[in-house]
Amino acid sequence: MATPVILAVDDEPQVLNAIERDLRRHFRGDYRVVKAASGAEAVDALTKLKERATPVAMLISDQRMPAMSGIEFLERARALHPDAKKVLLTAYADTEAAIAAINRVGLDHYLMKPWDPPEQNLFPVLDDLLSDWHANAPLPYDGIRVAGTLWSKSSHNVKDFLARNRVPYQWLDIEKSSEARTLVEAALLGEHRLPVVFFPDGEVLIDPDLRVLAEKAGMHTTAKGSFYDVVIIGAGPAGLGAGVYAAAEGYSAALLENEATGGQAGTSSRIENYLGFPNGISGGDLATRAAAQAQRLGTEILSATEAVAVRVEAPYKIVTLKDGSELSCRALIIATGMSLRELDAPGVKELTGAGVYYGAALSEAAHYRGERVFIVGGANSAGQGAMFFARFAAQVTVLVRAKDLAAGMSQYLINQIAATDNIEVITDAAVVSVGGSDRLECVTYKDVATGTETTLRGSAMFVFIGAIPHSGIVKGLVAMNEHGFIVTGRDLIVDGKRSAGWTEPRDPLPLETSVPGIFAIGDIRNGVVRRVASAVGEGSVAISQVHQYLQTV
Ligand SMILES: Cc1cc2nc3c(=O)[nH]c(=O)nc-3n(C[C@H](O)[C@H](O)[C@H](O)COP(=O)(O)OP(=O)(O)OC[C@H]3O[C@@H](n4cnc5c(N)ncnc54)[C@H](O)[C@@H]3O)c2cc1C
Repeated sequence: MATPVILAVDDEPQVLNAIERDLRRHFRGDYRVVKAASGAEAVDALTKLKERATPVAMLISDQRMPAMSGIEFLERARALHPDAKKVLLTAYADTEAAIAAINRVGLDHYLMKPWDPPEQNLFPVLDDLLSDWHANAPLPYDGIRVAGTLWSKSSHNVKDFLARNRVPYQWLDIEKSSEARTLVEAALLGEHRLPVVFFPDGEVLIDPDLRVLAEKAGMHTTAKGSFYDVVIIGAGPAGLGAGVYAAAEGYSAALLENEATGGQAGTSSRIENYLGFPNGISGGDLATRAAAQAQRLGTEILSATEAVAVRVEAPYKIVTLKDGSELSCRALIIATGMSLRELDAPGVKELTGAGVYYGAALSEAAHYRGERVFIVGGANSAGQGAMFFARFAAQVTVLVRAKDLAAGMSQYLINQIAATDNIEVITDAAVVSVGGSDRLECVTYKDVATGTETTLRGSAMFVFIGAIPHSGIVKGLVAMNEHGFIVTGRDLIVDGKRSAGWTEPRDPLPLETSVPGIFAIGDIRNGVVRRVASAVGEGSVAISQVHQYLQTV
C-alpha cells in the first residue's frame, strides 16, 4: 500500500512552513506530508491522490483563507477522501465556526494557533486521530478502477474485456457513488465519455480502445518477431492446447487472441467434465492456468489481436492483423471457434449490454442479486448459465423453444435444474420482443403451440441460442461445409479424390485443411465433438501433424 498522506493547507507561508516542519519531524517515514498554499491547490492535489488511490489519512487546514475558507475546503475534500481525519487551525475568534463545522464537515478536531510546544499541543492529538484512522479506514484498493454506469454499453465492454481476461478491477458506479462521480468529473474535464479507467500509476484512460487497455493492463499486443514456425489463431482451449504443445516441442509459436484467452470455455462458470478436476473448474481458471503454461514454455500470446486475413506464399503462410501488420509462419493453425447466435427480436439490439447479454456474462452476475433474470435457450450452455445465475438472482426463468429440456440438454443438468428452487423452465417459449427505456425491463415470449403472448418483468436476459463459426478469415482459401465450418483430413477426399487445388502427393493429415500446412482444430472444425477436452486434445494432435508436415517442406 502507498504511504498514507497528511495534507496541510494554509495561505500564510510562515504558518504552512511551520506545520510542515513539525509534521515531517514527527511523522517522518510513516506518512508523506503534502502542503498546499490554497484550498484550490489542495483540492487539485487531493484529486490526483484519489486518482492514484493513495490513501489520505489527515487533512489540516487553516480556517482563514480568503478564496476558500478552511471549512469550505474540508467540505470539498470530504467528497474525495471521506475517511481522512479533519483538523481545522483556528484563531480564538473562529471557535464558533469550528464548532459548527463539527457537524457540517465531520470535523475531528480544531486546533488553536500557535500550537507550541508541538510535543504537548499538536502531536498527541494527531497521534490519537491517526491511530483511529488506521483502525477504521477501509484498506485502499490500489488496482485498476473502472468508473461508469451499469447501463452504458462501453462500460460493459471494458468490464467484460477485463473480466474475461481475468484482470482484477474495482467497479465504481457513478450513479450510486458521489465519490465516484466527483472522481470522474475531475478526470473528464467536461467531456461526456464513459467509462473512465484509473490505473494505480495515476494514468487515466477514457472510453479506451481495448488494445490500448490490454497493453496498459500488462498484456502483450505486439509480436516480438515477424516470423514463427507456427502461428495459432484463437486462444480458446484448442489454441491454448496447441500453444502448450508447440512450445514444448521446441517450435517458435505466436498465439493470437482477439477477445480473451479461454474462448467460449472462458465464459463458462463451471466445467464439470474436464479430466482431472473432480469438483469442476471455472473456464476462467482453466484458461488462466493454460495461458500461463503456454507462456512459461515459450509461446507468445498476443492479446486484443485480431487476425483479419490469411494468404499463402508457398510454403509460407501470412497472417494480416487488424492494425495492418503481418506475421509469417511455416505452419498455421486455425482455432477460431465459434460464437453464440444473436437473438433477432425487437428491442434486443438496443438493449444488448444494458440487460441483454450473450452467453454467461460473468462480470454482470453480481449486479442481478435478488432480481429476476431470463435464460434463453435449451442446450447445455443455457443449463449451466441457469445454474450459475441461480446463485445470485432471486428467480431464473429459462425460456426454451423446444417441448422439453431433454431435446438439447444433458440429463445431469436437467436434474440439477429440477432440484433448484429458484429456476423455472418455460417450454414452447419463443422470445418475440424485449422492452425497457435504457435497460431491460421486460421480456415478451410467445407460446409456440398456442400463439399466446406473455410479458414478464425482469432485469437481465442471457442468450444461448446456437453458433456461428469464426471462419471468415479463411473463406475462399480453405474448404468449408455449407455452414462455414472448416473441413479437414479424410473428409476432404470425396469419391476417392483429393479436393481441387490440393498440391501435395499425399493425402491431407487428419487435422489439415484443403491447403497444405494450414490446420483447423476445435469448434471451428467440421464434425468435431464440441467439448473442452476434444479441443485441447486436437491442439496437441495438431502439433504432431505440424511436425509431420514440416518434414515434407
Ligand atoms: C457457456 C459455455 C459453457 C460450456 N461448457 C462446457 C463444458 O462444461 N464442458 C465442455 O466440454 N465444453 C463446454 N463448452 C464448449 C467448449 O467451451 C467449446 O467446445 C470450446 O471452448 C471450443 O474451444 P475452441 O478453442 O475450439 O474455440 P473457442 O473456445 O470458441 O475459442 C476460439 C477463440 O478464437 C478467438 N478468435 C476468433 N476469431 C479470431 C480472430 N480472427 N483473431 C484472433 N482471435 C480470434 C475467439 O475470440 C476465441 O477466444 C461450453 C461452451 C459455452 C459457450
